[in-house]
Amino acid sequence: MSFLETRGLEVSYGGIRAVKGIDLTVKEGELVCLIGANGAGKTTTLKSLCGMLPPSRGEILYEGTSVTGRPSYELVRRGISLVPEGRGIFGRLTLEENLKIGAYARRDHAAIRADMDRLYDLFPRLAERRTQQAGTLSGGEQQMLAIGRALMSRPRLLLLDEPSMGLAPMLVQKIFEIIKRIAEEGMTLLLVEQNARLALEVSHRGYVMESGNIVLADSAQALLRDTKVQECYLGG
Ligand code: ATP
Repeated sequence: MSFLETRGLEVSYGGIRAVKGIDLTVKEGELVCLIGANGAGKTTTLKSLCGMLPPSRGEILYEGTSVTGRPSYELVRRGISLVPEGRGIFGRLTLEENLKIGAYARRDHAAIRADMDRLYDLFPRLAERRTQQAGTLSGGEQQMLAIGRALMSRPRLLLLDEPSMGLAPMLVQKIFEIIKRIAEEGMTLLLVEQNARLALEVSHRGYVMESGNIVLADSAQALLRDTKVQECYLGG
């Protein structure tokens, strides 16, 4: 059984179909990436999976049951968490206040504290800055905070939208190391990335999206060797 599955998922803006009937699956514990050019429909797909955009057709199955059209707050409670493109942190609150917001639906205060400590182990950079106003963190620190905040909801499925966006190469490496580590600890992840090479290097499997359709689906290793993928997405 797939942990997450879409069947003929179609998402439209007004009359315009941005996602045109895609089938994708993510198994429990897998790290799967969705790559493709600008405007291919990757972000739209993620928004639909977390309940921000209702599908115009097709089905979304999560843990074997349909969650098609369910609202975001319900999906968060059921364990689906999105780290949005552009991060969406609260700039006027401190770093730690932002992390607490990630845990807003939880009542297990001792466990929240323990999770926060574990998170500071994973991101020592955040630990040093817990009282800093989040808006004054660097781009890379804000991205770490956004991932950390999503983890504070104790997700079972983490959806990451362009985590490398706007970051210097060294920080991109750092973020990908963290993603890899989160995956190795057993999290199920669906990763949307412009940086196809890095995404495929950390993923188990990948999907290539073009103009709202999935045009290739394979193991990450096979996609890295694919001549079309190399030409179009890996710079030849
Ligand atoms: P990028 O890598 O540039 O973020 P993407 O693959 O994530 O691209 P989407 O953001 O999903 O692509 O966009 C898919 C298509 O839907 C694009 O043609 C885009 O212009 C269109 N689109 C996205 N959001 C809206 C919206 N709110 N209203 C109308 N059209 C939209």
